[in-house]
Amino acid sequence: MSTLPDAFTTNSSPEGIEGLPATSGSDSWQRDLSQAIRSSLELLARLNLTPNTESIGRTLSEIESDFPVLVPESYLQRIRPNDPLDPLLLQVLASSQELVQVSGFQADAVQDLAARRAPGVLQKYQGRALLMAAGACAIHCRYCFRREYPYGAEPKRVDDWKPALDLLREDSSIHEVILSGGDPLMLNDDRLAWLCEQLDQIPHLDRLRIHSRMPIVLPSRITPALISLLRGLRMQPMMIVHANHASEIVDDCLAALRLLVRSGIPTMNQAVLLRGINDTTAALSSLSTVLVNNGVIPYYLHQLDRVSGTSHFEVSEETGRRLIRELGAQLPGYAVPRYVREIPGAPGKTLLDSESRREAEIP
Ligand SMILES: *Cc1c(COP(=O)(O)O)cnc(C)c1O
Ligand code: SF4
Repeated sequence: MSTLPDAFTTNSSPEGIEGLPATSGSDSWQRDLSQAIRSSLELLARLNLTPNTESIGRTLSEIESDFPVLVPESYLQRIRPNDPLDPLLLQVLASSQELVQVSGFQADAVQDLAARRAPGVLQKYQGRALLMAAGACAIHCRYCFRREYPYGAEPKRVDDWKPALDLLREDSSIHEVILSGGDPLMLNDDRLAWLCEQLDQIPHLDRLRIHSRMPIVLPSRITPALISLLRGLRMQPMMIVHANHASEIVDDCLAALRLLVRSGIPTMNQAVLLRGINDTTAALSSLSTVLVNNGVIPYYLHQLDRVSGTSHFEVSEETGRRLIRELGAQLPGYAVPRYVREIPGAPGKTLLDSESRREAEIP
């Protein structure tokens, strides 16, 4: 945790694409975000938990100055009070284990920087380019694979996007743009509309995919205005959300997912396999069930990327394969996510779901 990602410094207003008018502050999601919890001690106090001695000492403040705690109220409402092992709490509470150095865990584990084709553009796979549309997120997941990404160097002002847009315009082999980050829905509607409209004018772009955790963690972001923006595009929109546990998908989150799905926007989920959080057949089965019951297709279950400070979340691939096998025996095929890992240099995510496939695909 040597570098400090600019995007993760706590500021209450969404950033990205400066130079366009900010939406009036009446958007309730922006107010919800400005009221989010920003420290472990506050988080523990709200859940009626007592900090252990480490938390009171310097360790946590040191960790949190590198990668602050950030938890919106809506998400907090879904965490059980009095339970230090709550699977939602464990995703967001800073831990002294983040300081443990484990060999094999490094800053840019998935080699994002080697795939950077222009400011704000990563391309690893054929036909698909990923844009770092915003540097900030609405929640800070302690296991984040981009927790050390240098967002400060990515486009912020309208003019900064010119090289990225030129590249996409000139490369007709790209048919899909993925808005990622950070969280692309941290852009307000005006800024998001501007970026989408620029992309919509590039004729060979057929699909616009949004990778966002905001429908799960800050559901007030999913507004009728956002839906009409996406539905108004020439490109086919798709939404990939990120939930790891069935307890995340209740109340306002459930309503946001239903709004997306019933609006006709294909919606899928990606989860990360996380120790102590969703590493049981029962947890993964409940997650898949609540997703498909609401029309969301479980897309990927990711093996943890080995980023520094996240080793305590790792589950072995052997366990992962067993869990997926057991899921396959309980659920319809469409409810079983593809269990994958990202291997730098591979032409796509590498399937881990059976031993033979694994041996065939790992170089
Ligand atoms: C994961 C990823 C994608 C998307 O891969 P799909 O298999 O199409 O979902 C695209 N670009 C980058 C850089 C990625 O890491
Ligand atoms: S929302 Fe995604 S990018 Fe943001 S902290 Fe969580 S895992 Fe990382």
